[in-house]
Amino acid sequence: MTKQINMDQQLVYRFGGGRADGSQEMKNLLGGKGANLAEMAGHPELQLPVPPGFTITTDTCNAYYEAGRHFPAKLEDEVMAALERIEELTGKTYGNVNNPLLLSVRSGARQSMPGMMDTVLNLGLNDETVQGLIAQTNDPRFAYDAYRRLIMMYADVVMEKAAGIPPVQGKGIRKLLDEHLEGIKKARGFELDTELTEADLRQIVAHFKAIVKREIGEPFPEDPMAQLWGGIGAVFDSWNGKRAKEYRRIEGLPDEWGTAVNVQAMVFGNMGKDCATGVAFTRNPGTGEHKFYGEFLFNAQGEDVVAGIRTPQPINEASKNTQSENLQTLEEVMPEIYAQLNNYQQQLEAHYKDMQDLEFTIEKGKLYILQTRTGKRNGTAAVRMAAEMYQEGMIDRPTALMRVNPNQLTELLLPRLDAMAERAATPIAKGLPAGPGGAMGKAVFSSEKAVELRQAGENVILVREETSPEDVDGMYHAAAVLTAKGGMTSHAALVTRGWGKCCIVGCNGLDINEAEGYFTTPDGAKVKEGDYISLNGATGKVYLGSMPVVDVDLADNDAYQTLMALVDETKVLGVRANAESPADAANALRFGAEGVGLFRTEHMFYGKGSEKPLYLLRKMILSANRKERRAALKELFGYIKSDIKKTLAVMNGKPVTIRLLDPPLHEFVPHDRQRLEELAEELAVDVSILEKRVLALHENNPMLGHRGVRLGISYPEITETQVRAILEAAAELNMEGRQALPEIMIPVTCSRNELQDQEKIVKCIYKEVCASLGVDEIPYLFGTMIETPRAALRSGPMAEIAQFFSFGTNDLTQMSFGFSRDDIGGFLPIYLEKGILVNDPFQVLDRRGVGELVRLAVERGRAQRPGLKTGICGEHGGEPQSVAFCHRIGLDYVSCSPFRVPIARLAAAQAAIQHPRQ
Ligand code: PEP
Ligand code: MG
Repeated sequence: MTKQINMDQQLVYRFGGGRADGSQEMKNLLGGKGANLAEMAGHPELQLPVPPGFTITTDTCNAYYEAGRHFPAKLEDEVMAALERIEELTGKTYGNVNNPLLLSVRSGARQSMPGMMDTVLNLGLNDETVQGLIAQTNDPRFAYDAYRRLIMMYADVVMEKAAGIPPVQGKGIRKLLDEHLEGIKKARGFELDTELTEADLRQIVAHFKAIVKREIGEPFPEDPMAQLWGGIGAVFDSWNGKRAKEYRRIEGLPDEWGTAVNVQAMVFGNMGKDCATGVAFTRNPGTGEHKFYGEFLFNAQGEDVVAGIRTPQPINEASKNTQSENLQTLEEVMPEIYAQLNNYQQQLEAHYKDMQDLEFTIEKGKLYILQTRTGKRNGTAAVRMAAEMYQEGMIDRPTALMRVNPNQLTELLLPRLDAMAERAATPIAKGLPAGPGGAMGKAVFSSEKAVELRQAGENVILVREETSPEDVDGMYHAAAVLTAKGGMTSHAALVTRGWGKCCIVGCNGLDINEAEGYFTTPDGAKVKEGDYISLNGATGKVYLGSMPVVDVDLADNDAYQTLMALVDETKVLGVRANAESPADAANALRFGAEGVGLFRTEHMFYGKGSEKPLYLLRKMILSANRKERRAALKELFGYIKSDIKKTLAVMNGKPVTIRLLDPPLHEFVPHDRQRLEELAEELAVDVSILEKRVLALHENNPMLGHRGVRLGISYPEITETQVRAILEAAAELNMEGRQALPEIMIPVTCSRNELQDQEKIVKCIYKEVCASLGVDEIPYLFGTMIETPRAALRSGPMAEIAQFFSFGTNDLTQMSFGFSRDDIGGFLPIYLEKGILVNDPFQVLDRRGVGELVRLAVERGRAQRPGLKTGICGEHGGEPQSVAFCHRIGLDYVSCSPFRVPIARLAAAQAAIQHPRQ
């Protein structure tokens, strides 16, 4: 909603000289920059040396647009009054020929939109006032340099962009003027701008004005007032510039905010040797270390620091890096100014109670603070700052916890590509960022090759069209997996995420030639087997060549430990892990899991050490009748039991949800002739008969086929064997003095009758096991996954039997949307680009649709069975927004890959702060 301006509404807020009309609370009206300038200038605790100025409100910007890009009538009077105040404070007069005041005009929205809007500096200069500037400074070279900078910025920002005229000569006026300047430098044999003489610059000013007139068709305005209003209008206009609009769309910022305009007296860091300009952080933004950190340049303007032509100098010892270790520090060269700056930064951090990013300028030995804002930081630094500020007593527990973005924790948990090396490289392809961290290795195109090279001590990256259970061994041995197809819950993504292994999927442009061992990218890069590639699993970027990978150690990270202790004091939602092996379970405990929320029993048939059980499983699957099947299951029993028992043992005292066999059986049958022949021999049948049986298992739509509970219903002996294994393992552990807490979970159900059928088997086996082991009781729970929309809707009757629900939101999402979880990569990018979907629903739980089914199922289930235990074990269980949703609808726990457990814990704590449960 655009607000109307009323007559007594203040449009201009002044600051400077120890006073300010506004304050930091007024970000909506004054923008972030304006509110902080007011705070720094006017707050009694601060009153810092901020060059005086004023802020025109965001409401004025909206009114300007409302009126068809005209200023509100009363704006002029307010601006003139505020300008007078700047003149009083500086002792200079705007447009005065003898002692001119120069102004800057900058944008400032509620939230920083870096580089998206425009700025004009040095307003107030013309052919006459430039003489006044020479008189003030005794430095004609400086004065003409300032003048030519003004013409360049003004022509670009006000006369071209804001006026909406197409870039002159297709490149824009700024580029054209720049080329002219470069031409003169070249003609003189100069490298640096600083080599240009006063005479050169005077000539450049004249040429610039001629070029502007010729190209834009209008003269550069000499009238300082016209310049000022032109600048103000241009900043308002830049709110609706192409860059700003695009940025708002990406960041989801509303168009209605509008921008404020900050008009401020110019101070110069480029007036000579006693001048400088720089940027500083109250703590190190890369490490979080509590040390003042910053860089500066002598005799320079802010834009020179950004341009990176000269290497900036460190402000102090703590700010030195490999490039600047031999340079002098500000502390050494200007100890008094440094002491003053250090004092201000301490005041600012204590005042804002967060790390500040500030800009300063030293003009002829006098220090000014030009800006302060909350500093951006990486994950490592965010954790350290939050923990230490809490320990210092600066912030309270909720504030400390809200300071870290849960996803930032990933950085602390996993090896990743060296950031410097990555910055210097250009990606050759981009896919979906399925797996965390980073990895580097030789590209290989088959599982066998991955194992072979790994065993020879090589680092490999497995590149596949898509992966299947047959690739698991290769995936296990690879440092990372890259696939051309597949979405965020495809086989490759799920398996690697469980291991905390780097993975990129759905890299659509890759053209893989497995037979000849190479792939090409759309840009024509060709990667052959054995070539090094590097992957960033957090961004989905693929690079050619080997990049350094950096490791991390959590136990040594005091800040992390401190923060996570606060997390556990705060959260109410439980966090478990999806784990399939004792090693996974141990990892999960290390990351703070309170149980296993999903143990997928079929994982024992994949990868290393699975040859024998897989063989027995195949025998069972391809048996001709129940008798043969029972015999095969009998042989398999020992393996199943020992597999489950090991994980129950690791999780001693914590619940483990064990899911009965889920995938369609055809996933396990051999597809190569030799294996089939071996099996035929063992089963004493002809290969052709086995081939027929394999063929009979084929389904057109296996995801919706003979899988999950349907297996247990068709082949009750499978359920019997698994349940017996679970109960015996638990009973034995309990007899050994441990505490096993198994939860038997039935997958892919849709009705109460299915559960009743399976419950009968469980009860019967329970009696048998108790009797055979001579125990009175084996604690366990019986429950189901909710993975089909019908199960969610029929959750009331299902809760008559199930003691717990675990929402399998991978399948529930698949079946609610009707999007295949393995094929979404084909159309998801288009859906996201067109804004039809905001997120990949397999990553971020769709709260309105799938989430509504979950909420409803919890409500109906609990109405039937108060105290029904509920959790989620789909991939969403480790995604912060989804975790927050799970907290809000009252689930008991979320369960996710071990490596995402800390992220889920922090997200749960933040949800508890923002939405306290009754
Ligand atoms: C699910 O469907 O959400 C789930 C956890 O099971 P799976 O991913 O094994 O199908
Ligand atoms: Mg499922």
